[in-house]
Amino acid sequence: MIPVWFWRERVWFAFLTNGILRYVVTLHFTWLVNSAAHYWGNRPYNRFMNARENKHVAFWALGEGFHNYHHTFPYDYSTSEYGWKLNISTMFIDFMAMLGQAYDMKTVSAE
Ligand SMILES: [Zn+2]
Repeated sequence: MIPVWFWRERVWFAFLTNGILRYVVTLHFTWLVNSAAHYWGNRPYNRFMNARENKHVAFWALGEGFHNYHHTFPYDYSTSEYGWKLNISTMFIDFMAMLGQAYDMKTVSAE
Protein backbone atom coordinates (compact mmCIF):
# COMPACT_ATOMS: atom_id res chain seq x y z
CA MET A 1 0.00 0.00 0.00
CA ILE A 2 3.02 2.35 0.36
CA PRO A 3 3.38 2.81 -3.44
CA VAL A 4 -0.37 3.31 -3.73
CA TRP A 5 -0.56 5.90 -0.94
CA PHE A 6 2.70 7.82 -1.53
CA TRP A 7 3.14 7.92 -5.32
CA ARG A 8 -0.30 6.81 -6.43
CA GLU A 9 0.73 3.52 -8.00
CA ARG A 10 -2.07 1.28 -9.20
CA VAL A 11 -2.94 -1.40 -6.61
CA TRP A 12 -2.62 -4.29 -9.04
CA PHE A 13 0.81 -3.11 -10.32
CA ALA A 14 2.08 -2.52 -6.77
CA PHE A 15 0.93 -6.02 -5.77
CA LEU A 16 2.64 -7.61 -8.77
CA THR A 17 5.97 -5.79 -8.37
CA ASN A 18 6.31 -5.42 -4.58
CA GLY A 19 4.57 -8.65 -3.75
CA ILE A 20 4.89 -11.31 -6.42
CA LEU A 21 8.03 -10.11 -8.26
CA ARG A 22 9.91 -9.49 -5.01
CA TYR A 23 9.01 -12.99 -3.82
CA VAL A 24 10.03 -14.66 -7.11
CA VAL A 25 13.37 -12.79 -7.23
CA THR A 26 14.10 -13.63 -3.58
CA LEU A 27 13.41 -17.33 -4.17
CA HIS A 28 15.59 -17.43 -7.27
CA PHE A 29 18.53 -15.77 -5.49
CA THR A 30 18.11 -18.22 -2.59
CA TRP A 31 18.23 -21.16 -4.99
CA LEU A 32 21.14 -19.60 -6.88
CA VAL A 33 23.16 -19.50 -3.66
CA ASN A 34 22.75 -23.24 -3.15
CA SER A 35 23.34 -24.05 -6.82
CA ALA A 36 26.54 -21.97 -6.99
CA ALA A 37 27.78 -23.36 -3.68
CA HIS A 38 27.32 -26.88 -5.05
CA TYR A 39 28.95 -26.19 -8.42
CA TRP A 40 31.91 -23.78 -8.15
CA GLY A 41 34.70 -23.86 -5.58
CA ASN A 42 36.99 -26.27 -3.80
CA ARG A 43 36.28 -29.12 -1.39
CA PRO A 44 38.89 -29.06 1.40
CA TYR A 45 36.84 -30.86 4.08
CA ASN A 46 35.16 -33.63 2.12
CA ARG A 47 36.04 -34.09 -1.55
CA PHE A 48 33.39 -36.77 -2.04
CA MET A 49 30.42 -34.41 -1.74
CA ASN A 50 29.19 -31.77 -4.15
CA ALA A 51 29.12 -28.87 -1.68
CA ARG A 52 32.03 -26.47 -2.18
CA GLU A 53 33.75 -23.50 -0.58
CA ASN A 54 33.11 -20.34 -2.58
CA LYS A 55 34.19 -16.96 -1.23
CA HIS A 56 32.06 -15.02 -3.71
CA VAL A 57 28.93 -16.82 -2.54
CA ALA A 58 30.09 -16.33 1.07
CA PHE A 59 30.36 -12.59 0.50
CA TRP A 60 27.06 -12.08 -1.33
CA ALA A 61 25.05 -14.54 0.78
CA LEU A 62 26.36 -13.35 4.17
CA GLY A 63 28.41 -16.48 4.89
CA GLU A 64 26.57 -19.24 3.03
CA GLY A 65 29.51 -19.91 0.74
CA PHE A 66 31.41 -22.12 3.17
CA HIS A 67 29.27 -24.95 1.95
CA ASN A 68 31.73 -27.87 1.99
CA TYR A 69 32.40 -27.11 5.67
CA HIS A 70 28.67 -26.73 6.34
CA HIS A 71 27.80 -30.08 4.77
CA THR A 72 30.76 -31.82 6.43
CA PHE A 73 29.98 -30.38 9.88
CA PRO A 74 26.25 -29.52 9.78
CA TYR A 75 26.06 -29.08 13.57
CA ASP A 76 28.51 -26.14 13.60
CA TYR A 77 26.48 -22.95 14.10
CA SER A 78 29.06 -20.85 12.25
CA THR A 79 29.15 -22.90 9.00
CA SER A 80 32.82 -21.97 8.76
CA GLU A 81 36.09 -22.36 10.60
CA TYR A 82 36.99 -18.72 9.92
CA GLY A 83 34.65 -17.01 12.39
CA TRP A 84 33.56 -13.54 11.22
CA LYS A 85 35.60 -13.58 7.99
CA LEU A 86 33.04 -13.17 5.13
CA ASN A 87 30.41 -14.42 7.55
CA ILE A 88 27.94 -11.80 8.75
CA SER A 89 25.55 -14.58 9.82
CA THR A 90 28.08 -15.79 12.42
CA MET A 91 28.65 -12.20 13.51
CA PHE A 92 24.88 -11.82 14.06
CA ILE A 93 24.58 -15.11 15.99
CA ASP A 94 27.58 -14.16 18.17
CA PHE A 95 25.96 -10.77 18.84
CA MET A 96 22.73 -12.53 19.83
CA ALA A 97 24.76 -14.84 22.10
CA MET A 98 26.31 -11.77 23.71
CA LEU A 99 22.76 -10.54 24.47
CA GLY A 100 21.78 -13.96 25.81
CA GLN A 101 19.39 -14.69 22.92
CA ALA A 102 21.50 -17.56 21.50
CA TYR A 103 23.23 -20.21 23.58
CA ASP A 104 24.70 -23.73 23.47
CA MET A 105 26.10 -23.05 20.00
CA LYS A 106 27.93 -26.11 18.78
CA THR A 107 31.18 -25.90 16.90
CA VAL A 108 33.89 -28.19 15.59
CA SER A 109 37.15 -28.66 17.50
CA ALA A 110 40.30 -27.36 15.86
CA GLU A 111 41.58 -30.91 15.41
ZN1 LIG B 1 24.02 -27.51 0.19
